[in-house]
Amino acid sequence: MKRKGISRRKFMKSGFAWVAGTAAGLGSIGKFPTKKKIKAVSRTSLKSLRAIPTTCEQCPAGCGIIAYLDGDRLVQILGNPNHPNNRGGICAKGIAAINLVNDTERLLHPLKRTGARGSGAFTQISWDEVYSTLSERIREMMEEGRISEFVIDKGQDDSLLDRFLASLGAPRIIDRHILKNLNRRAALTSMVGSPALLEDVGNSRTVLNFGANPFSNHDLFISFARRLVHARVEKGAKLITFDVRLSETAAQSDAWYPAKAGTDGIVALAMARTIVDKGLADSNFIENKTDFTLSNLKSLLDPYSPQSAERESGVKASDIERLAVDFATQKPSVAIFGGGITDHENGTQNARCVSLLNWLVGNLEQEGGLFFPRLSGRQPDKEKQSQLIPPNRGNTIRGIQELEQTKARIDTYFSYLSNPVYSEPDCQSAARLLNNDKAVPFLIVMDTHLTETAMLADVVLPAATFLEGWGLNSAPSLNGIPILNLRQPVVSLLSPARALRSPAFDVGKLLEPSFQPMGEAV
Ligand code: SF4
Repeated sequence: MKRKGISRRKFMKSGFAWVAGTAAGLGSIGKFPTKKKIKAVSRTSLKSLRAIPTTCEQCPAGCGIIAYLDGDRLVQILGNPNHPNNRGGICAKGIAAINLVNDTERLLHPLKRTGARGSGAFTQISWDEVYSTLSERIREMMEEGRISEFVIDKGQDDSLLDRFLASLGAPRIIDRHILKNLNRRAALTSMVGSPALLEDVGNSRTVLNFGANPFSNHDLFISFARRLVHARVEKGAKLITFDVRLSETAAQSDAWYPAKAGTDGIVALAMARTIVDKGLADSNFIENKTDFTLSNLKSLLDPYSPQSAERESGVKASDIERLAVDFATQKPSVAIFGGGITDHENGTQNARCVSLLNWLVGNLEQEGGLFFPRLSGRQPDKEKQSQLIPPNRGNTIRGIQELEQTKARIDTYFSYLSNPVYSEPDCQSAARLLNNDKAVPFLIVMDTHLTETAMLADVVLPAATFLEGWGLNSAPSLNGIPILNLRQPVVSLLSPARALRSPAFDVGKLLEPSFQPMGEAV
């Protein structure tokens, strides 16, 4: 399906409606252009606490948070009521981020392995030793034309790291965020030319949910869940969930259908056929904004009757028909999907089948339907950007599995806030590969704690937490208005830990003294 003549909403003209903490970004930490006054007092001393707005970076949602300090001590984290996405709500992980900073188990110094790999024997080394070892290896790989043997495992987005990697040529990049949504991105890209679409559930009357569990996890977790709850409680929206298990979201739905595993796509196609057969499809949208005609679709959907879907899925044909009619008539309606149907074999096709329901009701750029993410235009001015930076961003690969399948040669594996030995779906393979010093001659891990992966490393670097450094984040906005989040330090670094941007600068400078990843103007 191609995008044809999709008009932008008029409020897009307002450009950046939100720049979190702009005043603070100009050098006055703690000032913030608030609408609601943010005040707090210590529960023990009743003294006023200092409130500093910043951005949570523990998941892609990028919630606005307020860090409260008693003197210099971080004592509480709450949601920022003025943030347009999360509107004051945050999850337990956001609240618990206080422990990241204050944890006594935090890594404090760069460490070098002294015993066998995985033995846990380390000795402290200086940052200078780290920089010269790493820059020598990178220089050799670049000079010998084998920079593809440099693997970066990125557990958190960092715009400066991306620019640094781009300046090296084409290292292999494992981007954990992209990997998590591979099938979803593939499905949407093939249908609308964009890897992401946002669901305007806050304005929907009918939400058909195939395998998503937004009350437990979602890319925009709290912001999305709050809108869904608001639509249900304030506007009486219906939520219907298909899931093999009674998930947190299924349990809160108006109806739950435990379709047999792997059959969601067939159920969606049977609903699509019902909508077309009953003449309920948005013919204007199909004829003018897709590559199909209604008669094409009718013949393509013909094999997927509700009765055949019942035999495959166990969901009654009469329920499939009734839900399809409700979806097409109780508008605005939206079909959403999640890992329950995408993170499997056929995940891409499942996502395409569910997406078809949205196109049949003309659900693109519609209130209560789907819309393209509006990201802020935060890319630096190309003219001012260093000539050292080529446009490519390296070579993104499909994780450790791809390294093993292609028997890729590896010189250096750099893991940044990623713990594949614990979190890869096949974590035992990851452990085997990273524990093999012939397959991975040099393993360097940068993290806040001595993780399972760090235990195998040749060099371990202490990372700053997101509460100790600067950053920009352009989280997708659920209001359709671009958001540019500023992350500012709320506590100073008490240890030699450094945000990765410091090594990105320093290693870059060792390689090339004129290295300037942000452009000469910055
Ligand atoms: S949803 Fe994500 S960004 Fe928001 S508070 Fe929780 S961890 Fe942080």
